[in-house]
Amino acid sequence: VVEYREISKSFGDLEVLHSIDLDIRPGEKVAIIGPSGSGKTTLGRLLMTLEEPTSGTIKVDGEYLWHKEVGGKLVRADEKHLHKVRGSIGMVFQHFNLFPHMTIMRNVTEAPIRVLGKSKKEAEQEAMAMLEKVGLSDKADNYPSQLSGGQKQRVAIARALVMHPKVMVFDEVTSALDPELVGEVLEVIKDIAREGDMAMLLITHEMDFAYEVADKVIFTDGGYIVEQGPPQQIFENPESDRLQSFISRFR
Ligand code: ATP
Repeated sequence: VVEYREISKSFGDLEVLHSIDLDIRPGEKVAIIGPSGSGKTTLGRLLMTLEEPTSGTIKVDGEYLWHKEVGGKLVRADEKHLHKVRGSIGMVFQHFNLFPHMTIMRNVTEAPIRVLGKSKKEAEQEAMAMLEKVGLSDKADNYPSQLSGGQKQRVAIARALVMHPKVMVFDEVTSALDPELVGEVLEVIKDIAREGDMAMLLITHEMDFAYEVADKVIFTDGGYIVEQGPPQQIFENPESDRLQSFISRFR
């Protein structure tokens, strides 16, 4: 459902991703691990259309993300095209980004009503079902400031889910949380992962979580994919010295 091809990204003179190829199959859960500054978040931000690649292409569900085919040639996509493809990508960030002046219910129904054109009633019914799934149906009438960080993050997940994306990007979603709140958020993500049909890109520092949820783990270092494979292989039989030393820090 997602194909990165020869993706490079530079900020000024600094190239932070070097010709990355990465595939996410429909329903596949892919975790990205690696040291700080290795390019994990940048990989995610490219898919979330928050950064534009310096070179290379990304396809989502068969459509180019940053490009458009015109007369057999690839040209830079306009905002309209980007907007359309963005609809199949769900995003959850480190800092929840909830709308502070809206109730939890409105936070979750805003996009389905405005973007998908759903009726208020239909959007609210579905929002309630999603809030139940993340264990927060009793908070529908509250405002974000009345919720804990873990609860806010669960709302952010429900808000992304109601858009029925083909792929969800979770960008270090527990990094800003107090340690005691991390577990409840990871549990919700695990539940969603178990349901199956949605692909996920999970950028994470939580190794046990990556081991448990991912079908494929990608280890990045210095802007390269150094190793990738099923979690057992990556965590129990790391091949490269760099991955071995990275993993030994979590033992
Ligand atoms: P962390 O685990 O600390 O979040 P990461 O693996 O996600 O790190 P990135 O955030 O992708 O790494 O950053 C990769 C490199 O790109 C780093 O050297 C970072 O300083 C640089 N970088 C990221 N965003 C920008 C930007 N907007 N401008 C300049 N440099 C940037």
